[in-house]
Amino acid sequence: MRFERIPRETRLLDPRNDYAPITIPSEIRLDPLTGFSGRIAHFAGGQRPVLDLDALNAASLAHGCPFCPEAILRVTPKFPADICPEGRFSRGEALVFPNLSPYDAHSAVTVVTQAHLVRPENFSAQQWEDALNVSIEYFSQVRRVERHIAYGLIAANYMPMAGASLVHPHLQIYSTERPGNWLQGQIEAARQYYQNTGRIFWEDLLKEEKAQGERYLGRTESVEWVVPFVPLSFIGDIEALFPHRFSILELTTEDIHDFCQGLIRILSYMGDTHLYSFNIGFFPGQSMDDRTWVHARVSFRGTVNPTLHSPDVSSIRQLYDDPFTTLYPEELAAELRPYFQSRDSS
Ligand SMILES: [Zn+2]
Repeated sequence: MRFERIPRETRLLDPRNDYAPITIPSEIRLDPLTGFSGRIAHFAGGQRPVLDLDALNAASLAHGCPFCPEAILRVTPKFPADICPEGRFSRGEALVFPNLSPYDAHSAVTVVTQAHLVRPENFSAQQWEDALNVSIEYFSQVRRVERHIAYGLIAANYMPMAGASLVHPHLQIYSTERPGNWLQGQIEAARQYYQNTGRIFWEDLLKEEKAQGERYLGRTESVEWVVPFVPLSFIGDIEALFPHRFSILELTTEDIHDFCQGLIRILSYMGDTHLYSFNIGFFPGQSMDDRTWVHARVSFRGTVNPTLHSPDVSSIRQLYDDPFTTLYPEELAAELRPYFQSRDSS
């Protein structure tokens, strides 16, 4: 397994220091599974801006919110009775209903909380547990009625800076035979790895990350946590591995419990470091034949200039599909590790 780093140095004359010559480092990295590249650069990064969430909250409620308790049962669609006799799946505060703008034939939305805006550090593990478990219940019901679900994808865009059109915490969940270029690329590479070695890539990755120690964070019972070698976010990603689970329906309520125990540690880090927005994506195979352990990424999102509403995705990511990160993954791991070590992993 190769963790390939290609360091670069740029020579220039620095206007901040009377045009003295300096060199500025950057790095290209290749993903050990797919070979996909990513860049680490612009280390200056700067202070993360403090956002006025009260103003965002007020603006987002100006025209009402369809996911708030007073509206949700009135304005959201229901499933046909063969999928859900009650019309919508519910557990705790979480509610699943069909997506009015579906991504595929079976496409739903899971509202996570009754509260409209929740600061990342204020989510409870139970809220995420209920939302994820009831999402998987939807997938099981789709499988029962439709006989197969292919890839069951669970994704979250939290806060507008992560691509959400509504502030109210919710998940996009859908089953599809086309899981997207990234996951498709991972699965093809994982199958090739298995053909070449007779081994599951993810098992070897976990061993290697534990041995290297630079990006391994720890585990919350059954779930293992690492900072990926090649991040997708401009700040960084965290990856959860579900050992020996090969499809979304293989995840047990215990697995989800263990995942959420790690997730709230990440959310707590976000609260401490002025991070407000994140994506979560679950990456499952269809079955063991895909040779891919279920894994999930939490990817931090934000703006590079809040005054101008500048998004964190620019041409390098949008058009050249080259992920670009401003922090070394090993540095992010060092910042996050205390959050995984300071509490019981129960
Ligand atoms: Zn709301």
